Amino acid sequence: MIGRFRIPKVIYPFFIIILFSCCSKDEDDSHHSDGDVQVIFENDPVSGINIIFMGDAYTKTSLEKEKGKYYIHGINTIEALFRTSPFSEYKEHFNAYIIYAESVDMRTSTSNITTNTKFGSIESTHGSTGLTTLIVPDQKKINEYVFLVTSKTRSNRDVVLMSVNNADRGSARTNQNLAISGNADTRIMIHELGHAFSGLADEYFFDGNLVGYNSVAIQPDNLDVTDDLRSIKWNQFIGLEGYSDVGAHEGGGYNQFDIWRPENNSIMKALNNGNFNAPSRESIARKIMSLRNRNFDFDKFLEIDRLSMSNKNLKHIQVNYNTPELNFVCDLDLH
Ligand SMILES: [Zn+2]
Repeated sequence: MIGRFRIPKVIYPFFIIILFSCCSKDEDDSHHSDGDVQVIFENDPVSGINIIFMGDAYTKTSLEKEKGKYYIHGINTIEALFRTSPFSEYKEHFNAYIIYAESVDMRTSTSNITTNTKFGSIESTHGSTGLTTLIVPDQKKINEYVFLVTSKTRSNRDVVLMSVNNADRGSARTNQNLAISGNADTRIMIHELGHAFSGLADEYFFDGNLVGYNSVAIQPDNLDVTDDLRSIKWNQFIGLEGYSDVGAHEGGGYNQFDIWRPENNSIMKALNNGNFNAPSRESIARKIMSLRNRNFDFDKFLEIDRLSMSNKNLKHIQVNYNTPELNFVCDLDLH
């Protein structure tokens, strides 16, 4: 046994006690560590769609286990999402997690100041419009944190909800499963998820038309350039019982004229009622079924949707087009 060291069995208990006391000095049971994963719920860990909440610009103090800011923002966001149709009705297809990420600084970078945060988020002002946008550029780091949750390379079933501490805006990578939002209101994250998960367009608009920007070019399911109800994208809802709000409402995609949205109000237009309109709900449900490799049955969708809408007794609130939510939810990407 030359060159190998064996500990006599008789001293094992002492060795273990010494080891334990050494390690426990550095442990902090009151706070999560960077990279900790918290399972909120799992319905199908192998092939379900993963909703993964992560945060940028959260410092150590926010990672407290008991009522820490990170946890509160995470759980509030996930619960709000699964109270929203159609995610609430299709919850069985999802898993949900919080992964903790610790930043050095608690503010994002701006055009003037560079801070040190885990994912490098930046709030910057667009020169020609004066509008502020929020971006999280470090995709490689995001993918690393997804891997910590799933132990697999990020796939199209991994949906990231990126909460940026102390920011009040949102943005999204359309159709790329990355929704970004400050933590002022969980509805902003859900709006952004509409872009990120299902490619939905903004339904708000400004006075007149925005020259040089054609939001229909991205082919969203919730805008069309015709008001002909026989051929409009969502004509499958026209005349159906329970869907009398669905029609052709002019204005959307930042343009006031010559573009139509399905319902007067929607979370893609303003935050006030917090619901997706019917064609957007169908679009999201189709995406869920597609990611799960299942056929989409429109009649089955209607059955589920009608029941949930009647239970929720939705109130459609008249929108004042000049209200500040146009400034609040401002994720216009002119590039
Ligand atoms: Zn938007």
